[in-house]
Amino acid sequence: MKLPKFSAWRHLFGRGEAPADCRSARLVAVIHCILDQNVRDAGAAVFPASNWALLELCRKHGVGLLQMPCPELRCLGMARSRPTGCSLREALDSPQGRASCRQTAQEVAEVIAAHIAAGHRVLAVLGGNMQSPGCAVHQQSSAEIAMRSGIFIQVLAQALRERGLEIPFRGMRDADPQLMAEDLRWLSELFARQP
Ligand code: SF4
Repeated sequence: MKLPKFSAWRHLFGRGEAPADCRSARLVAVIHCILDQNVRDAGAAVFPASNWALLELCRKHGVGLLQMPCPELRCLGMARSRPTGCSLREALDSPQGRASCRQTAQEVAEVIAAHIAAGHRVLAVLGGNMQSPGCAVHQQSSAEIAMRSGIFIQVLAQALRERGLEIPFRGMRDADPQLMAEDLRWLSELFARQP
């Protein structure tokens, strides 16, 4: 579904102060498969359903989750349809693949901007494993995403930059239990620093 431009509905969210109810007004944007491993390519799921350790950490700290659409699913469908011999990375890095990722990234950036305009804090964008063609996060510097990151992550970082939004990115590297533990520690420290 194509969302209307943020500017068209900004008035609904533009108070700049979160309502005085029980909400924590804190959230993270997460790649689709953190909540639903069923969207992963064949052989890539590492949990039966969701990354419960990450969800439990969010629950413990009262942090909400914004589920971003899976860029592979949007561009290539569940079967990852593409010409024979074409890798997933090549398919997403094609003009058509990049256009699809850019469309998804613009929609996500609009929703993030709406949250921020409503006085909510978007603490991080949580991506995927280091080899993920769409969602890998590789840092160039503390503020910059490297070109070897996933195609969706690259264009999302750009879409947020264009809106003047600075949000830290981090891959949740669930394919390796040791790296996953490191990433959960990083997230836990981030939540503790931003109560
Ligand atoms: S493209 Fe991203 S959201 Fe989709 S399954 Fe791969 S890592 Fe998850």
